[in-house]
Amino acid sequence: MEQQPKARNITWQDGVVQRADRERVRGHKGVALWFTGLSGSGKSTIAARVEQVLLERGCAAYVLDGDNVRHGLCRDLGFSTEDRTENIRRIGEVAKLFVDANVLCLCAFISPYRLVRAQLRDGLAAGDFVEIYVKASLEVCEQRDPKGLYQRARAGQIPDMTGIGSPYEPPEHPELVLDTERGDPDESVNEVLGFLQKNGYIASQT
Ligand code: ADP
Repeated sequence: MEQQPKARNITWQDGVVQRADRERVRGHKGVALWFTGLSGSGKSTIAARVEQVLLERGCAAYVLDGDNVRHGLCRDLGFSTEDRTENIRRIGEVAKLFVDANVLCLCAFISPYRLVRAQLRDGLAAGDFVEIYVKASLEVCEQRDPKGLYQRARAGQIPDMTGIGSPYEPPEHPELVLDTERGDPDESVNEVLGFLQKNGYIASQT
């Protein structure tokens, strides 16, 4: 639910440069590509590679990554339901600014709650929020365990680990599903790029 600001005497200040101006000059659109999935499903790996390719193509792209924002913007938040919700709300607001700034913003967050992701979508204009389900089973993610988190969770050291002590609600209608159990990360990268081209976010390569 959209909350009213606490401050009263504030007025929205429009800039001289509009979003359409940025798009025209830069030759691509801004969008929040929201990668959701279990820890170890491949969100960060894929987002980082997509960012690299987009940059090489001259696009403004930037990754917002779960662990990174918890070092700064969200360092006061933990992993309770309330904190996870506030974490995603803040990141959603940041992503919104990036989109307005004409950036292809790659957001790699477990973001386990369907309702919270629906609120994100509601907070952005149609087409500005693209939900990408990075799909891998708990078994596979646990086998990969790139950060050793599952092992620690199974040892009882991380009680609120998503998929074990805390739920993950898969998207019902994501724009894109990347099955990372088969194929390698580059296949997923190409799927994302194909989606961006097909839907006019970036120019098709000639
Ligand atoms: P997340 O950001 O979702 O927590 P990471 O990207 O940090 O996940 O870790 C995913 C791990 O799985 C990496 O070690 C990566 O090399 C590996 N992996 C294996 N196959 C794939 C694939 N098809 N796509 C993405 N990652 C893969």
